[in-house]
Amino acid sequence: MTKTYTGKCLCGRITYTATGAPIVVAQCHCEECRRLSGTGHTVGAMFSSEAVAVRGTLSEFSYSSDKGSKVTKVFCANCGSPIYGMNTRAPDHLTLSLGTLDDASELDIEVVIYERDKRHWDRLGDNVVSFATQPDWTPES
Ligand SMILES: [Zn+2]
Ligand SMILES: [Zn+2]
Repeated sequence: MTKTYTGKCLCGRITYTATGAPIVVAQCHCEECRRLSGTGHTVGAMFSSEAVAVRGTLSEFSYSSDKGSKVTKVFCANCGSPIYGMNTRAPDHLTLSLGTLDDASELDIEVVIYERDKRHWDRLGDNVVSFATQPDWTPES
């Protein structure tokens, strides 16, 4: 039976389905992914473009990669969630942002790229305190 993944953006105006297994699941630490995500890296699942159907109004931004290819990042036009990216190095493919999948529990990161550009704060220290949910903390407390 063919697996179908579903996903949506933060506001819910973009929804999508992706059919079949991803070709690869990758974490990327390049500067563009850092700025795109606002955090240390992106995590994406690459699919054939024809395996993915997206509904809703998208917005996009393109730039040239350091390999000379054209990279296009595609967002929800309303809430700005990054939905997928495309690269002319791999035409007819797109990479869905893993965090927008409704259920990616069966998927694991298989490869990390641009490890060279990884920031030290994207690695947790031993004495970082974790809370299961938002703690009852305010700047005044
Ligand atoms: Zn949205
Ligand atoms: Zn990247």
